[in-house]
Amino acid sequence: MEVIQQYRAYRPRPLKGEERGKVKIVYGGLTWKHERLIQGALENAGYKAEPLPEIKRADLDIGKELIDTGACCPTTFTAGNLARFLKEKSEREGREGVKEGYVFVTIGACGPCRFGQYHESYERVLENLDFKDFRMFLLDLLQMEQNEGGLEITMPLTFGLVYSMFLGDLMTDMEYAIRPYEVIPGETDKVLKESIELIYDRLKNRPSRGKKWGSLLWHVTTPYFVKVLKEVRELWDKVEVDRLRVKPRVKITGEFWLQTHEGDGNYNIKRWLEQEGAEVIPPPIAVWMDYLIYLSLWKMEESREFVEKFWLKKAVIKLLLNLYHFTYNRLRKALNNIPNTLPPQEELRSLAKPYFHHFLAGGEGYMLIGKALYAHLNKHAHMICELSPYGCMPNTMSIGAMQAVLGKYPDLLYAPIEIKGDAEVHALSRCQMILTEAKKRAQREFEEALERTGLSVEDIRNYEDERPELRKATYKVPHYGYAGTSANYVMHVAKLMGRV
Ligand code: SF4
Repeated sequence: MEVIQQYRAYRPRPLKGEERGKVKIVYGGLTWKHERLIQGALENAGYKAEPLPEIKRADLDIGKELIDTGACCPTTFTAGNLARFLKEKSEREGREGVKEGYVFVTIGACGPCRFGQYHESYERVLENLDFKDFRMFLLDLLQMEQNEGGLEITMPLTFGLVYSMFLGDLMTDMEYAIRPYEVIPGETDKVLKESIELIYDRLKNRPSRGKKWGSLLWHVTTPYFVKVLKEVRELWDKVEVDRLRVKPRVKITGEFWLQTHEGDGNYNIKRWLEQEGAEVIPPPIAVWMDYLIYLSLWKMEESREFVEKFWLKKAVIKLLLNLYHFTYNRLRKALNNIPNTLPPQEELRSLAKPYFHHFLAGGEGYMLIGKALYAHLNKHAHMICELSPYGCMPNTMSIGAMQAVLGKYPDLLYAPIEIKGDAEVHALSRCQMILTEAKKRAQREFEEALERTGLSVEDIRNYEDERPELRKATYKVPHYGYAGTSANYVMHVAKLMGRV
């Protein structure tokens, strides 16, 4: 008799409550800076933690062999990366050691794109490598704990993760604002490493104030992290920069994983842009969380007549948003406001409105249009580089809508780059073409600023000799309406000299 097996959704072997603290949590998908800080937050909460190894080009091939070939680029890279991790660890620690010693934590949720199916791909990896009983924990954004255990989401852990995200973002902003102008090559990377280690140590060893209200109060009011960043600022104070190097500013947008990533997964595009002479504006992860909170607020407003205690709930979300921005800005201030502000979501939504409805969720939703227009109209960047994984539905929608945007703003320099993982030359050469025009714009702006102020490069150099603090990496140059750092710097020096 033929037995028909009904379809059953995959349920990975769970992480039991009593295993917490004994089993190492493995995670990935962010920058090495964010991952190191998350490690500190997890260790503070009593877990053992280890990020997945750095993504390599080989991971794409491993992933393609093991999972559905139509899967999007972030899934394929991560699946291959997980497989390589399991193989390499097994060679060193034996299969049983790996099965018993580690749990892979990944994020999932339902939605219009393939985000909700990532874990199915990872299951294929485990199946194909005969690791079916390897523990995997799906950190569902809508349901943070497994029935059998999972992670214990306490107040200190939640705040630890939020601070890891903020601090990782701020350090990334510092890095990209400074490295293109560093006088001694390699100094930014060295100071960055020292800063991350310092913050990691403080995150890991932050004081315990219980698991609930005491912890909440402490994390919301404490000057602890501001003090840490003041120490970090002293490290960056020693880095000397030359802001007279004329560089186009390139804002990175795109799909979450691709835009955040720093490695072979997106052709190392941020480093590549720097080598091509650009200054990169990286995307903070905090913008994504801000977006999610705003979306929930707008959804609630849309159906207010059906929401119980609407005004109370709205007030709570507004308070949360104010606290979120206040904390981010407070930390920025400790670094002399060198990291960028979070873009205002209300404005992003209204800029994108004629082209993209804000409830078309999935991927980065309206933000891709909103961020491009916001940077262009406020002269924050010369060019937008949007990174899209091949076959990604939300990004395809945004690229389509951007054609209407370009019809209205033909001078917006926009490079939509499709990342396939194995078509590097094609993608980078497209980017290079737009970058050439961005370079010309940066140069024209710089010359215009010199002409407006009547200054020469030599005059500015002489003035720098009198005011050496101008060459500190932590010196804040205000925005004078130019997209380029060098043009704004000329205006600033002219103002200090009383020329404008
Ligand atoms: S946003 Fe695009 S790349 Fe990212 S998971 Fe969804 S479909 Fe895949």
